[in-house]
Amino acid sequence: MNYRTLGKTGIKVSEIGLGSEGYVNQSEEHSLELIQAAIDNGINYFDLYNSEPYIRAALGKAMKGRRDKFVLQGHLCSAWLDGQYKRTRDMEQVKAACHDLFELLDTDYVDIGMIHYVDEQKDFDQVFGGEVLQYAKQLKAEGKIRHIGMSTHNPKVALQAAKSGDIEVMMLSVNPAYDMLPSDEDVNNLFEESTYSQKSALSNIDPEREDLYTYCETNGIALTVMKPYAGGALLDAKESPFGVAMSVHQCLHYCLTRPAVATVLSGAHNKEQLIEAAAYCDAPEEKKEYATILASAPAHSFSDKCMYCGHCAPCTVGIDIASVNKFADLCEAQGMVPETVREHYAALEVHASECVSCGVCETNCPFGVKIIEHMEKAAEIFGN
Ligand code: SF4
Ligand code: SF4
Repeated sequence: MNYRTLGKTGIKVSEIGLGSEGYVNQSEEHSLELIQAAIDNGINYFDLYNSEPYIRAALGKAMKGRRDKFVLQGHLCSAWLDGQYKRTRDMEQVKAACHDLFELLDTDYVDIGMIHYVDEQKDFDQVFGGEVLQYAKQLKAEGKIRHIGMSTHNPKVALQAAKSGDIEVMMLSVNPAYDMLPSDEDVNNLFEESTYSQKSALSNIDPEREDLYTYCETNGIALTVMKPYAGGALLDAKESPFGVAMSVHQCLHYCLTRPAVATVLSGAHNKEQLIEAAAYCDAPEEKKEYATILASAPAHSFSDKCMYCGHCAPCTVGIDIASVNKFADLCEAQGMVPETVREHYAALEVHASECVSCGVCETNCPFGVKIIEHMEKAAEIFGN
């Protein structure tokens, strides 16, 4: 397993995490088995909304005596009421659900207190202008949550939350299909086949999503990813907007090569699926490679834009082309060179100025990126 830093929280988290969906409609035994498999495979990041109580109880049992091995992303504003999961902004219900979370987990803190599922502008305005955010801040001041997060499917709302300064971690739906779409308040549209039929409108990453990635990366706001397989659609040739089935590892690699992403919550429903996702970290590059699929998709052309996929490697002189392009793009988007980006660039072993214009990488790039020009530009931005 590889580990990344969860933005400015500084917490080290596994690149692959365990989402909550895999435990739903199962049993406590099943949950315990899944959690143990996660631990055995180096996973330390666990997402948890308040669905069936046995899930919280199972996680509580699994954590006994080894709380420090778990990084918990617990959801505020999700409640188990009358035998059903419910998203709520009713403060009485929010507080009761939070009490239930701590009691069943048998812990005195969760690492990330995630304000649950804010997709609509009106909801965002109420949550951030009202009692929900105040309550999250109070929990943080009391040490019951260490950091405040928010989950959403809407990049427009996500960017506002990021800019609010109150959020350190954002749980966002990320995959190459959703990334082409403009922001939308209705999550159901992401799953509609008709959404992907407006072929002319769908090409490359949506600018608002790009802005979100850039802002989060340069401001230390970590993204934790949900829906990496687009609800399974990307794994099925008939449903995928790219016309071919992507593999689990290709989907995970796409997410993990987006700026600011720290961990991807695998939607594993059983031990086998979880082990397959965890094996991503040791998989050979050719098994993770997604660039050819996106570049050759008949209707959806990701062209003339670096996707940071790494398909052009190896560079003749050892430049990490994907990283150089990413750092240069972050600077161009901000109109300045942020200090953190300058430091990351300086830490690269080989810099853009060492490019000998051999052109080998351009032959390998499926997106037609003019890499030599990009290296010249990066050398100009960073001064080497
Ligand atoms: S230059 Fe092309 S191949 Fe290289 S990382 Fe960017 S998109 Fe991928
Ligand atoms: S053109 Fe430059 S960046 Fe590309 S492989 Fe050659 S030396 Fe490396």
